[in-house]
Amino acid sequence: AGDGNIKVVVRCRPLNSRELARGAKPLIRMSGNQTFLDPPEAGSQQDTKRATERKPMAFSFDKSYWSAGPRDEPGYCSQQTLYDDLGKELLDHGFAGFNACILAYGQTGSGKSYSMMGYGADKGIIPLTCSELFVRVDERKAADPNINFTVEVSYIEIYNEKVRDLLNPKNTEDLSKLMVNSYGEMMTLMDEGNKARTVAATNMNETSSRSHAVFTLLLTMKRHDSDTNLDTEKVSRISLVDLAGSERANSTGATGQRLKEGANINKSLTTLGKVISSLALASSADTKKGKKGKSEDFVPYRDSVLTWLLKDSLGGNSKTAMIAAIAPADYEETLSTLRYADQAKKIKNKAVVNEDPNA
Ligand code: ADP
Ligand code: MG
Repeated sequence: AGDGNIKVVVRCRPLNSRELARGAKPLIRMSGNQTFLDPPEAGSQQDTKRATERKPMAFSFDKSYWSAGPRDEPGYCSQQTLYDDLGKELLDHGFAGFNACILAYGQTGSGKSYSMMGYGADKGIIPLTCSELFVRVDERKAADPNINFTVEVSYIEIYNEKVRDLLNPKNTEDLSKLMVNSYGEMMTLMDEGNKARTVAATNMNETSSRSHAVFTLLLTMKRHDSDTNLDTEKVSRISLVDLAGSERANSTGATGQRLKEGANINKSLTTLGKVISSLALASSADTKKGKKGKSEDFVPYRDSVLTWLLKDSLGGNSKTAMIAAIAPADYEETLSTLRYADQAKKIKNKAVVNEDPNA
C-alpha cells in the first residue's frame, strides 16, 4: 500500500472443534494476495436460506493470510508473521513521530482477539509490539544520551456508545493514562485491563464480543540539543483496536438490550466504514488538487464514540491497517466481512473488481 492507503489484510482461522464435529466444509481458498470464498454445498447445513448469492467470490487485499492449515505448512501465517508485516511498520511510524492504528474487524469467533491480544504462548500483535517498543527505546537511549522516552498506556472499552476505563474501572472522569517503564509493567496492566473487561461484561450480563476494546500507546520522545540548548519533543499515538463482533444483531430476533447493543455496534462499525471512505475520498481529492486538510473537514468522526476517540489515529498523518478476521466455514458473515474490508481498501488504488474465478 502506498502513502495514504489503508493497508487491509485478511486472516482465516482453522476450523474449530464444533465445525469439525458437524462436518463443516472449508469455504476459503487463498492464492497470493487473493481470497476466494466458495458458496456452501447446496443442501448442506451451511447452506442457510439467507444464502442468496451463490457465486464463488474473489477479493484482493494487501495480504491474504492463511492460518487455517497446519502450522508447519509452508505459507502458514503465524502470530510472528502478522507482527512482522504490521506491527513493525506501526512502530517505525510511531518512532518517526506519527500516529498509527491497527483495527481488527470480523464476526465473533473469527480470530480478532487472537490476532490482537493472542492466547497463552500465542502472543498477538499487542504484546509483540509492546515488547519490541521497549527494545527500541533502550537501543535509542543507548545510542544517544540526549534522548529520552516516556511510554504511557490507556486501555478502554466502548460498550453501547459509553466508554469504560479498563485500567481504572471505577473512573468516570478523564481516562487513565499510566506511565510504564518496562514490558513487564505493560503486561501487568494489560492483564488487569483484560480482567476488568471480563468482570464488567459478566456484571452487566454482556459478552465482551459486543464491545470495542481500544489499547493505546503514547510515545513521547524528548531530545536535548546540547549545541543550541533546546529541547524538542515528539509525541505519537499508537492505537490497537479489537472491534465488536460484526455479526448482525437482528439475525435471531434480538429484542431489548440485545437489540440496542446491536444497533450501537452497527452504528460505530457503520460510522467507522464511513470515516474510512471519506478519508479515502479526501486523500484522493487532496492529491488531485495538490492541497492538504480541507476535505477532511467532512469526515464524520463525531457520529460515533469509537471514531471520535480514534480521530487522531485515523487519517491525517497516521498509518492505518485493518485486519479482517474470517472464519473458514461461514459464507454469509465472511462475505459481509470481505465486503467491508474491500470498502476500507478503496483509498487511492483502483478497486479490483470481484470476479468469478471459475468462469
Ligand atoms: P474473536 O475475538 O473474533 O471473537 P477469537 O480471537 O477469540 O475470536 O477466536 C476464536 C477462537 O478461535 C479462539 O479459541 C482462538 O484461539 C481460535 N483462533 C482464532 N484465530 C486463530 C488462528 N489464527 N489460529 C488458531 N486458532 C485461532
Ligand atoms: Mg474477541
